[in-house]
Amino acid sequence: LRRTGALGGGARSVTAIALATYGKAYKLLNQARKQQVCLIKRHEWRWRNEHGLGRVYAVGTCEKTVAVRNLEEPSAPCGGCLGILRCKAFKHLTDVRMPPDEKRACNNDEYKNIKLVELYGKFAGLSEILEHPDPKCSPFIRFAIGALNGAYKDEVFVGLVEAVMIKKDKITRGIGMQGFKYAPAFDEFMHLINVQSPKAYRFLTKHIPGRTQRSYQ
Ligand SMILES: [Zn+2]
Repeated sequence: LRRTGALGGGARSVTAIALATYGKAYKLLNQARKQQVCLIKRHEWRWRNEHGLGRVYAVGTCEKTVAVRNLEEPSAPCGGCLGILRCKAFKHLTDVRMPPDEKRACNNDEYKNIKLVELYGKFAGLSEILEHPDPKCSPFIRFAIGALNGAYKDEVFVGLVEAVMIKKDKITRGIGMQGFKYAPAFDEFMHLINVQSPKAYRFLTKHIPGRTQRSYQ
């Protein structure tokens, strides 16, 4: 389940279904026929991937109940579901070595449950990122990922970004910067500028957030 976004498997490929049903390549079909092919494929699934439960169930042959000794322990699969392990297509898929994350080109569009992803994005406040037309090219999204991965080691810079962001947020909520604790490295950087040239400091803080000059005295 870690290697695929597919919700099930064991069906013929869309190419094979399209050829057998319409005598044409899948990509030459119109939208309605493509959808038909996908529906047929879904009905041919021999197993169902339940990512949330961490389980794979056999379609049609799952017995749905198993005898257990201890109700507290996770139950073993039923005979029907165990049968999937003998299925050639399943074996073939699980034998393929899993590529490292950076080598994974994409999750096949067919497997993306766009509606669910959009819904999740709305709840998690990530919709702008998920709906961005080209997230890989946006410097801001790349920065966010880099920052989360700890790629930006410059504490002054990270402190500056944090202060700018918090200030914007506070302005939106109609409150001031009182009580905000600037990151120590950024605070020291600003303090040094103020010591060297109070005039330069005043000019700088017209554009970027910083403490009041009085608070340094
Ligand atoms: Zn089962």
